[in-house]
Amino acid sequence: MSFLTHLECSACGLELEPERLWNLCPQCRKPLLARYDLEKVKLSRGALSGREQTLWRYRELLPLRDDRYRLSLGEGFTPLIRAENLGRELGFTNLWIKEEGVNPTNSFKARGLAVAISRAHELGVRAVSIPSAGNAAGAMCAYAALAGMSAYVYMPKDVPHPFIAECRALGAEVTLVEGLITDCGRLAAQHLAEDRRFDVSTLKEPYRIEGKKTMGYELAEQLGWNLPDVIIYPTGGGTGLVGMWKAFAEMEQLGWISSRRPRMVTVQAEGCAPMVKAFWEGREFAEPWENARTAADGLRVPAAVGDFLILRALRESRGTAVAVTDREMLQSANRIGRTQGIFASPEGGATLAAFLRLRRSGWIADGESVVLFNTGSGHKYAHLW
Ligand SMILES: *Cc1c(COP(=O)(O)O)cnc(C)c1O
Repeated sequence: MSFLTHLECSACGLELEPERLWNLCPQCRKPLLARYDLEKVKLSRGALSGREQTLWRYRELLPLRDDRYRLSLGEGFTPLIRAENLGRELGFTNLWIKEEGVNPTNSFKARGLAVAISRAHELGVRAVSIPSAGNAAGAMCAYAALAGMSAYVYMPKDVPHPFIAECRALGAEVTLVEGLITDCGRLAAQHLAEDRRFDVSTLKEPYRIEGKKTMGYELAEQLGWNLPDVIIYPTGGGTGLVGMWKAFAEMEQLGWISSRRPRMVTVQAEGCAPMVKAFWEGREFAEPWENARTAADGLRVPAAVGDFLILRALRESRGTAVAVTDREMLQSANRIGRTQGIFASPEGGATLAAFLRLRRSGWIADGESVVLFNTGSGHKYAHLW
């Protein structure tokens, strides 16, 4: 059962009743966050061990009230792999890869959308809509199909064919848009009123982040409740990074972990690095990135509604932000492949590229423990090889 109590605006603090549908805060148009009665959750860490090997093992900390609405394809509880071969090659012992490519629809987007679409299903939604540069759309379509909902997808015209094919095969109506994900968002918003579509854009509804925060719970559980020193995360809209940061606070309140936190690292592409720029300029919000260009579709996000939440988590954690080239991403993806047998996405490759830079600069010290996130598999990006 869920211990969800209310929704709270991440910017103005407005509290909202959670049994109806919400998108952004009605007062200030910023993301809403789910809050739980963590005092009442009488769940011990040990009690988790016998549970199912999906993200639903943390159901008390997820928003779904009634299991009958749960839509599951086996998402979450992905392997945390000790990268021994890669580590040996790099002269670094404590290197781990969280392998998210094995999720349904081959990326960690399945986590957020399994939870968001399940909750929308519970609240009576019959049609969902998403602007997406790739993996989020496929994940939405999979869970919408399972729920028997209509699915509407808006994608930039130049997204690789596998992303489009996947959505069509999963029964969605796909609209290809001239421009970037932000242009897709604008068109999707114009069509929302038709058959009362619910918008599940990144951080524009409160539950995708709840699905993605389970990566933080899993890391803690899989590492014996000791978080790593550094987490390197390829950041687009930032749901995963902000979600894990939220999970750490929740786990501390639950008494599951101490107050020690990993340093969080955002990695973006040199051709689209709004968070990296804002981080180094000391800004609270990021400016939209002009002419965003990168082959890493998940990182081609010129503006994020949760920008201030990403920047806050980086600073609170004493983390950093790094931009890498597409060439470095692919070389690093190949290195992960050659040493660890994982066909990584360019976004996953980007985390290793950032690691190499941070080792060279001395920001990551010998003996620290580092987790790289391979957020999706390389299969949908095969045209790059
Ligand atoms: C969407 C996506 C990202 C970015 O994730 P956010 O949580 O939105 O920052 C990274 N990698 C892949 C493969 C993606 O699909």
